[in-house]
Amino acid sequence: MTQTIFMVGARGAGKTTIGKALAQALGYRFIDTDLFMQQSLQSSVADIVAREGWDGFRLRESMALQTVTAPKTVVATGGGAVLSHENRTFMCNHGLVVYLQASANVLAERLAEDPEDAQRPSLTGKPIVEEMLDVLASREALYQEVAHHVLDATQRPEDVVEQILQILADEKVK
Ligand code: ADP
Ligand code: MG
Repeated sequence: MTQTIFMVGARGAGKTTIGKALAQALGYRFIDTDLFMQQSLQSSVADIVAREGWDGFRLRESMALQTVTAPKTVVATGGGAVLSHENRTFMCNHGLVVYLQASANVLAERLAEDPEDAQRPSLTGKPIVEEMLDVLASREALYQEVAHHVLDATQRPEDVVEQILQILADEKVK
């Protein structure tokens, strides 16, 4: 099946890292909805949020998600894409949804080490570990609900990619 694969999970879970590697392994296109929005709107996520608020950002994110969805495409979604019921239904119905699961501690460590992520505005203004705990508390059930498969994102990236390839191979056999 030539389908869309949606990577969901919190910031730092590895959606971009794993998504890119997976796309390369499959010969699929890779698209990051955050980057897609930044390029099509010529603004950073921070600028969009400053101008239009999180609600405006989320609306644009939903449009971006639907625009980039195509066969043979791996889509790295924004961490909050699952907050929208419409987005969850859309992803569930238009492809395979993979949740990259990691603890708040792991996510916070990764974000602290990644200077690019400093560009993304804090959701709450709290310290990063607490923020990630809050984020997971409010979103874990949604990630679980939308996901066809939940993977341990603390494994080595190549092992996570291998697991997804195996899932796709198993689906073909069915
Ligand atoms: P996301 O797109 O979900 O926000 P990224 O792919 O940007 O996450 O990864 C965030 C940071 O964590 C990056 O510095 C990346 O190199 C690192 N990272 C991602 N996946 C793993 C992994 N499986 N093991 C170790 N580090 C990882
Ligand atoms: Mg990313």
